[in-house]
Amino acid sequence: MSAANIDPVIWIDGSWSTKDKAAVSVYDHGLLYGDGIFEGLRIYGGKIFRLEAHMDRLEASARALLLSIPYSRQELMAMLNEAVARSKRQDGYIRLVVTRGSGTLGLDPNRCPRALVFAIVDGIQLYPAEVYATGIPVITASTRRTPRSSAEARVKSLNYLNNILAKIEAQRAGCLEALMLNTEGLVVECTADNVFLVKNGILKTPAAIHGALEGITRGVVLEVAAQAKIPTQETALALFDFYTADEAFMTGSGAEVMPLTSIDGRVIGDGKPGPVTQKLIKDFHAVTRG
Ligand code: PMP
Repeated sequence: MSAANIDPVIWIDGSWSTKDKAAVSVYDHGLLYGDGIFEGLRIYGGKIFRLEAHMDRLEASARALLLSIPYSRQELMAMLNEAVARSKRQDGYIRLVVTRGSGTLGLDPNRCPRALVFAIVDGIQLYPAEVYATGIPVITASTRRTPRSSAEARVKSLNYLNNILAKIEAQRAGCLEALMLNTEGLVVECTADNVFLVKNGILKTPAAIHGALEGITRGVVLEVAAQAKIPTQETALALFDFYTADEAFMTGSGAEVMPLTSIDGRVIGDGKPGPVTQKLIKDFHAVTRG
């Protein structure tokens, strides 16, 4: 997605704004403490992809954090559709953020009278276009995904410090991405993407209960796999399962479907995107781009 020259469209707490003018308070608890949630949505063909699923996930995250969103689902959906229309983008990315809002110093969320909502419509290019054809090598990060006993991974919260540290580990190892484990050592996801493997014709992905976000793209890939009669499993997967997989790939709204060619130096299959991965990429493109 190019369109780097198109101005972003920004909506903040009820008003349209611009990149230069849109600002949040330094007392906002999203900024001070990472107290908030977000969604990352895609625009394909001028329409928001799987908007209802993103709203379901946003509402689930808000409910889990006792965060009251001061706009109805219908109001937010109408605002997002208008933002896309204003942007005139056929392809793009939307970031929707809800923070606890502006309060006093100190953690107490009850001192934040009103949650802050803002949305940005812009372009996104996470990886160079050419690596989609070849796939990428990844490492396993030593930084673990936050355990459920601290913060549930199914909440799409503004707390990404573990994932950022894992991303830094990947970059220091010369990779674009890293696998992350939970505290029991099971593979759960990448730093901002879900992860899948193919073994003996079965498509497997870590079950959300082990500490993975229930990605919208993950859901679409499971759907298109079922339509293609590829058996799927959401299950417990160790690094061994990934090291010995026939194919592996990761998924996300920004990244879409990205083949993985090696994990910690273990070459996956023949080191090229495998046939099931290629079929799923084709089917995913058919769903998103018609
Ligand atoms: N896991 C994490 C930690 C994420 O931040 C994301 C979103 N970038 C995903 C998985 C993928 O989810 P989705 O397909 O909804 O973008």
